[in-house]
Amino acid sequence: MEKSIFTRIMENEIPARIEYEDDKVIVIHDIAPKAKVHLLIIPRKPIPTLMDVTEEDLPLIGHIHQVAQKLAQKLELKGFRLINNCGKEGGQEVFHIHFHLLSGFHE
Ligand code: 5GP
Repeated sequence: MEKSIFTRIMENEIPARIEYEDDKVIVIHDIAPKAKVHLLIIPRKPIPTLMDVTEEDLPLIGHIHQVAQKLAQKLELKGFRLINNCGKEGGQEVFHIHFHLLSGFHE
């Protein structure tokens, strides 16, 4: 399978503004932000879509939510949306699972 744009960012082939990283995920600023804060939480494991998540990936999905919580604390967000677009019909463009963390709609 061809490397996704997010794997290429993780491998430093393409630059990105990194907000956070650990051994399981990387968090970058979206190149075309849809809100004041628009981050992408991306697992290092290149799972194509939410429909491809298996039972063994469930701790990873939990970790993504914990990372969202920690970022909200660190960035002092008053609230946020955590969105996954799944499949072409769900508006997904990059087929490497990721969660959009958006905030700042009423500032
Ligand atoms: P999707 O529609 O797949 O849920 O979202 C993909 C997101 O990735 C879009 O919001 C798009 O702006 C963002 N994106 C696509 N290519 C790049 C890139 O090269 N760098 C960054 N930082 N974001 C990207």
